[in-house]
Amino acid sequence: MNYENFCKLLKRLFKIRPLKDNSIKIRGNVLFLRHDVDSDFETAVKMAKIENEYNIKSTYFMLHTAPYFKIPSFMIKCRYMQNNLGHEIGIHNNVMAVRIQNKGNPKKTFDRVLEKFRRSGINIYGTSAHGSKACKYKNIDNRYLFSEYCKKDSINGIKLRTISLKTYNLYGAYNIKHDVYVTDSGGYWHSNGKKIDNIIAFLENLNTSNERIKIQLLTHPCRWEI
Ligand SMILES: [Zn+2]
Repeated sequence: MNYENFCKLLKRLFKIRPLKDNSIKIRGNVLFLRHDVDSDFETAVKMAKIENEYNIKSTYFMLHTAPYFKIPSFMIKCRYMQNNLGHEIGIHNNVMAVRIQNKGNPKKTFDRVLEKFRRSGINIYGTSAHGSKACKYKNIDNRYLFSEYCKKDSINGIKLRTISLKTYNLYGAYNIKHDVYVTDSGGYWHSNGKKIDNIIAFLENLNTSNERIKIQLLTHPCRWEI
């Protein structure tokens, strides 16, 4: 399915919101639309434009270690996505991987990223965690940067939970309450560990249930051809 048709499908079935709206009471079936922009920023911009044509507002989490993050026009395009297209920009957190690769203090790394966005006029409300190979190798998750996600103070000599989401007044994408989580990570649709053979039927079926549900749907723009 191309992305435009996917937007039409979502629009027909759900009320679509960016993740920052998670505490607002909304009647009906709500889908929080999330994009983890691992590598393909240009596709993310194209998705943002298509969504705008359908009056969809979603959340784009930008990876601070990706090559695109250093391109001078990156922040200008983020501002365009936020101010002109109405989307939310968030931080796709890879701070613990940076720490593992011995590049300094996690708090300072996070502060630098946050500051770079804010100085460019981008409002940051939340973060999602990047699934990094460097972290997996050390049994660490990027989420462990935050005290809310981790009880241990250190793993394999790496200091964890150095900052808290609460003091930064940020949400964590995993903390947002939802009934169903759907993702294209790994290159195929799945939900709560189960493969989805037919995404259209799956989403339509969610919409016909009598109970009101909250869905978090995650895409990776690098997996879409637009
Ligand atoms: Zn990622």
